[in-house]
Amino acid sequence: MKVIEIRQSLQKLILGEVLWDDEILKFYSVDASMYQIFPKVVVIPKIEKDVISVIKFANKNKISVTARGAGTGLVGSALNDGIIIDMKNFDSIKIQKNYVKIGVGITKGSLDKELKTKRKFFPPNPSIGPYCSLGGIIANNASGSRTLKYGSAIDNVKEITFVDGRGEKNILPNNQKIGKRIIQFAKKIDINQFPRVSKNSCGYRLDSIKSLRDTHKILVGAEGTLGIILSVKLSLREVPFKRILFVVEYPSVTSAAKNCIKIKNSGPSALEFVDRSTLRNIDFKFGKSTECLLFVEYDSNIKEIQTRFKNFISGKIIKKLTTEKEIEKWWKYRDLALSYSMKEIKEEERNPHIIEDATVPLEKLGKLFLIIDKINKEFQTKTVMYGHAGNGNIHVRIISNRQKIKTLEKISKTYFDQIIELGGTITGEHGDGIARSEFIKKQYGNKNYRVFKELKQFFDPNKILNPGKITSSKTSFKRLERF
Ligand SMILES: Cc1cc2nc3c(=O)[nH]c(=O)nc-3n(C[C@H](O)[C@H](O)[C@H](O)COP(=O)(O)OP(=O)(O)OC[C@H]3O[C@@H](n4cnc5c(N)ncnc54)[C@H](O)[C@@H]3O)c2cc1C
Repeated sequence: MKVIEIRQSLQKLILGEVLWDDEILKFYSVDASMYQIFPKVVVIPKIEKDVISVIKFANKNKISVTARGAGTGLVGSALNDGIIIDMKNFDSIKIQKNYVKIGVGITKGSLDKELKTKRKFFPPNPSIGPYCSLGGIIANNASGSRTLKYGSAIDNVKEITFVDGRGEKNILPNNQKIGKRIIQFAKKIDINQFPRVSKNSCGYRLDSIKSLRDTHKILVGAEGTLGIILSVKLSLREVPFKRILFVVEYPSVTSAAKNCIKIKNSGPSALEFVDRSTLRNIDFKFGKSTECLLFVEYDSNIKEIQTRFKNFISGKIIKKLTTEKEIEKWWKYRDLALSYSMKEIKEEERNPHIIEDATVPLEKLGKLFLIIDKINKEFQTKTVMYGHAGNGNIHVRIISNRQKIKTLEKISKTYFDQIIELGGTITGEHGDGIARSEFIKKQYGNKNYRVFKELKQFFDPNKILNPGKITSSKTSFKRLERF
């Protein structure tokens, strides 16, 4: 079918908008990653039936369909060359006692605002803040600073309504027929090849499916490759009445990493890390030998923690904050670590973020820092690091004169091999997208990879949903040449 025929047929088929101006296609050809792929057409459905009609049409004509939230993903997972389906009109919100039912197009900012009026919150809080959509958060299994206590998206979703690759609308976990098939796939995996970490956005999370009640979780982190999500029931938590935030300085990243284990055992709601590059942006006189900070927050047992905290800290406590205003001010320093790091790196020293999101078991965090140290020595690079230390999830950005694509590939392979050896995951929150799908077989082994392919076949027999992601061995490095 000719491109113009696809566009015109879609226009006749749905109530929503069908767009293909050059400027529109250019806008949807990029997200927050380093990749660019031009779609043939962009569809903005108005009603559920539009989504079903688009998928049925795409299925019949073998054209790809890729869902788009706010386009803030860091690994190119919302980019593709067929139909892009922007879910922004699906922005309903209905708050119940312990859950909220939302349309996937709603932004995190709008959801937070509504929930705040009821003193509730949905725990995953990506540092991008209010801008990303709930569809993207769920499809990436996103998380954030409070994941340590409250889990990632996968731990906070109760029900998912979606349209599969055949154009069938389903609700999980309600649909037991589909649920039983998912359980069969879950039983086939070799669990020993799954990472032993507290958060993981790599591949399909069959490890999280223990019973028929969990089957909706297969859509979480699936990056729109198994279905287009329409609406979701999310678990809610009560906003804690009081919080306390300690900021602790350390003379080395390895001493901070070692201390994390003891701190984690004390039950913090957040345990976050920033290196020297963020320090320079904070209005405070740090010790001369300070190399990094840990931000440690508690939202329960505050009184007891106030007296006990110093007993399990090996660094120097530089701040003990108890007012919301001060706590928020200092959290901003942590949340802005990515933009501080960009400020630090000269234009000519910026490299694509290729290894920015690995996660290891907490007791291996020190080893992760040692691996980075070795990479820096071997490839004559420097790095900026920050992240969710309590989960063993560190964001790494490479600084050096612009590296050759081949060298970047070598760095990724060296790093990922060792992360997998430590029992870690190559992505703790940003997902696979274009950047990491080629490494999934290495992460999970041949047997699990085959199960992933069978699962994909079950949900999307004609492979029209976001092809090239997760079950794909296409190399991403060639695509970086435009960077
Ligand atoms: C500055 C910055 C900071 C970040 N910090 C964090 C962080 O702290 N923690 C973290 O976890 N992540 C972080 N991220 C990445 C984060 O995961 C994404 O930004 C966010 O979750 C994606 O939401 P989005 O609406 O922009 O999705 P998009 O980028 O539009 O899409 C992401 C994926 O979701 C799929 N998708 C979207 N909607 C649907 C749907 N309805 N059905 C099926 N699939 C769908 C897309 O196809 C794509 O595969 C950060 C990103 C940036 C730019």
